[in-house]
Amino acid sequence: MTNQNISNKILHWYDNNKRDLPWRKPKNKKQSEYFTLVSEVMLQQTQVSTVVPYFIRFVHEIPNLKILSRVNNKKLLKLWEGLGYYTRAKNLKKTAQFLVSKFKSKIPNDLNSLKKLPGIGDYTSKAILSLEFNKKVIPIDGNIERLLKRIFFLRTIKEINKENIIKKSHLLGYSNRQRDYVQSLMELGSLICKPKQPLCNLCPINSLCISFKKKNFEIIKKFKKNKTKYFEANIYYSKNKILLIKNEKYNFLKNHLIFPMDEINKYKFFSSSKIKTSIKISNIDMKIIINKNNKIPNKKGKVINTNKFKHEIIPSFTKKLFRVASSHQ
Ligand code: SF4
Repeated sequence: MTNQNISNKILHWYDNNKRDLPWRKPKNKKQSEYFTLVSEVMLQQTQVSTVVPYFIRFVHEIPNLKILSRVNNKKLLKLWEGLGYYTRAKNLKKTAQFLVSKFKSKIPNDLNSLKKLPGIGDYTSKAILSLEFNKKVIPIDGNIERLLKRIFFLRTIKEINKENIIKKSHLLGYSNRQRDYVQSLMELGSLICKPKQPLCNLCPINSLCISFKKKNFEIIKKFKKNKTKYFEANIYYSKNKILLIKNEKYNFLKNHLIFPMDEINKYKFFSSSKIKTSIKISNIDMKIIINKNNKIPNKKGKVINTNKFKHEIIPSFTKKLFRVASSHQ
C-alpha cells in the first residue's frame, strides 16, 4: 500500500466517523486560530471528553485573544477550575498578551516562533502548524503513538524511542488535507485503536497492521518512575469555615489554596492511626495523613466559608482532602 493510499483510506474513514467537537466548528479564520490554540492547550494532559464542556464555557466567556489578554486572573482560573495544571491557563493568557502586542493578534505559522510562546512546546507547536496551517507535520500525541506502535509492532526500547516513532510516522505519509489527516490519525487512535481492546475489524488500515496480523496488541511503554511522598495535612474546620493557605512551599499547585501541610517521613505515615488518603499529582504518589481540628487558629491564611466554595478557586486536590476528612466522624 502506498503512502497516498494509506492517507486516503484513513481520511475516508474520518470523513464518515469524525466526532462533532466544538473546536472543529469555528465561524471564521480568526476564530479558528483561537479555537485551535485554546483547545490544544486544554488537551495537554487532559482527555477530549473532559475538555469539551470546559472549552465551550471558556470560549463563551472569553471569545478571543484580545479579551483573553486582558481577562482578570480570578475569572481565568475559575474557568479552568477542575482541569488541573493551572500553569497552562496562566501561560495561555501570557501567550495571548504576546500575540496581541507582537503579532497583531495572529498566531505565527512557523515552528520557531510558536515554540517561543509561553507553555507552547514542540508537540503543541506542531499540532498548531498542522491543524491550523495545514503544514505537513505530524504531532505525535498518545493516540498517534499507540497507533504507530501497533501498526509497526514496535516492541523494544530502541524501537519505542521518540526518534524512531517520528521516523515511523513519516511512513504514514502526508496529505494535502493535512489538518484533517492529523485529526483522522488522532481520532483513529482514540476511537478504534483503543488502549485495551482495539476494534480492528472497523479499522481502515488493518491489512497493513503487523499487530493485527500477529494478534498481539500489547503496548510497550517507557518506564516512568513514580515518586512516593508522605505528608500530614491539617484541616481546621469550625462552623462551616476552613483555613486554607496559599501554597508557596511546594512545586505542585504553586500559589494555589491548600490546607496547611508538611512533608513527613514514611515511618510517621505508616505508624499513624489517623485518617489517611492517597492522591496522585503528575508522577507523585502523595500519601497523606489528615489531622482534623475543630478550632480555627489565629494563623496566616484565608478562612473560607464552605458554603461559598464555588466562588473561590480551589484546586480539586484541596476539595478531595476536605471530602475525605468530612466523610470521617
Ligand atoms: S488493525 Fe487494530 S491494532 Fe492495528 S491499527 Fe487498526 S485498530 Fe490498531
